[in-house]
Amino acid sequence: MKIKILHMYADMLDLYGDSGNMEIIKYRCGKRGIECIIDKYSVGDDMPYFPEYDLVYIGGGADLEQQHISADLLKCRQGIKKAYKSGTFLFLICGGYQLMGKYYRDADGNEIKGLGLFDYFTIAPSSRKKRCIGNIVIKTEITGKPVKVVGFENHGGQTQGVKNPFGTVLYGNGNCSKSSAEGYFEKNVIATYLHGPMLAKNPEISDYMISYCINRKSDRLIKLARLDDKLEKECRKVMIERLLNK
Ligand code: GLN
Repeated sequence: MKIKILHMYADMLDLYGDSGNMEIIKYRCGKRGIECIIDKYSVGDDMPYFPEYDLVYIGGGADLEQQHISADLLKCRQGIKKAYKSGTFLFLICGGYQLMGKYYRDADGNEIKGLGLFDYFTIAPSSRKKRCIGNIVIKTEITGKPVKVVGFENHGGQTQGVKNPFGTVLYGNGNCSKSSAEGYFEKNVIATYLHGPMLAKNPEISDYMISYCINRKSDRLIKLARLDDKLEKECRKVMIERLLNK
């Protein structure tokens, strides 16, 4: 078994360990004998054929980095759209999440055009002091069971117009300051503000994506072998207790 991943702009969009998400996916595949190929793409590279990938990953970045990659990302629009429509999974963190919507307007009023794959849009307040910064706990049911997911958020952008969030906020801010909704979800899209890296303490979310990738072209359901996630879950429990029992 094999999955192919395209990690876009790893050299520019990589905050609070976002690239670690790829290491975690690779590790969890390796433990199960699933080959995991991770190609990288960045500004100026030859245009990849996006639909050949099972998963496309984009991390988060500061406003400046988002501006730097914007023109290049727009060139990739047709390819990414074609891949998404044909079932490629899109995994998007923070800055990457914002740029798949209609636009991101930063604190200075500069507007970065998004790919418009989804209807949401993001606006940062003009005061830079009004950022959403800190640990965050959300609850999601994407795996069919309620799971508490922990991470770290740091964004000025307030994302509005999300129809189907990734989770509900139990602690922290989420899509907007003090909002109840966090991220965006479709069966082949997880877009979220959670850094950390997000997958480090949330093994169910890694496995949701791995399972999706290995099953998308299979005519029978391939079940993932269980891994020993004791340590990851213990770490998550510490954070959940610290934050929710305040
Ligand atoms: N620059 C964006 C914002 O501040 C995204 C930040 C991020 O990716 N953490 O909203």
